[in-house]
Amino acid sequence: MQYSHEEIKDFIETQLSMWPLAKKNYDALAEVERREIKINDYDFFLQYNPARIVSTGANIEKEKIANRKCFLCRDNRPPEQMIGEIIPGWEMLVNPYPILPVHLTIVSKEHRPQSHVPKDIVEIATRLPGMVIFFNGAKAGASAPDHLHLQAVLKDELPLIRLVEKVHPESAAMVLPSDALLPHFPFFFFTGVVNPDDTGLKPLLAGLSIGGSTDGKTLDDPELVNTFFWISESGILRFIAIPRIAHRPKCYYAEGAKNRMISPGCIDMAGMLITPRRNDFETLTAEDITKIYNEVAFNGKN
Ligand SMILES: [Zn+2]
Repeated sequence: MQYSHEEIKDFIETQLSMWPLAKKNYDALAEVERREIKINDYDFFLQYNPARIVSTGANIEKEKIANRKCFLCRDNRPPEQMIGEIIPGWEMLVNPYPILPVHLTIVSKEHRPQSHVPKDIVEIATRLPGMVIFFNGAKAGASAPDHLHLQAVLKDELPLIRLVEKVHPESAAMVLPSDALLPHFPFFFFTGVVNPDDTGLKPLLAGLSIGGSTDGKTLDDPELVNTFFWISESGILRFIAIPRIAHRPKCYYAEGAKNRMISPGCIDMAGMLITPRRNDFETLTAEDITKIYNEVAFNGKN
């Protein structure tokens, strides 16, 4: 079963009609301010989104996580939160703190850690044509590292997806390093095109297994990655995997004027940086953003 855009829109509308908090946050999104920033001619956006402080500022220390009720477990969710069917073992929810007008959270029914990209991401992508499904590793932007979950937004909303579809043709079905296609992009990633025959297996396994590392050398920590899977217009499975070297940039922890409330996850890495504070939104420059990317991801030279 596949969900059409109309069905997803209806699901969201129904949810918003019965959940004032989510409705308030979706309504606020219509007013949200965006600012375009070019980095080496590539399109990036800042989004001023005060409601996202809950995620950007999330305390993800082990002790803190252990002492709070998991907000993704069914028993702890607000009674208003609807459950959509997706595939066995998973539930589809409307994200009550959206970044984009269609923003779903797809959660494992079981409380288990956000330890590696689940292979179910592929089947979920086939159920949601036109959407990109993404995974924030436990140490790469996930605000609930203890409960396995994915998110989904319309794929054309994310600048990085649009860019990759343009520069990595589907005739080149394989995994390519970004510096082969985009030598001046501010950080390094892999793009994969997965043929639906035997030749697709190797790229597919790469997409599911690429991780990052804190020493910036190996790619084997599955909690340090941002991974995106989607089905293209022509029905081909594609992915992007961004190996990470840190969860948060230095400026996140800085004191005083140098402090920036930025905690990059998939959406930020895909070209839409979320700034819950107005001052960050107004003052961040292309240089600042490049520095942030280079502190959390490989820059291609390290
Ligand atoms: Zn849980």
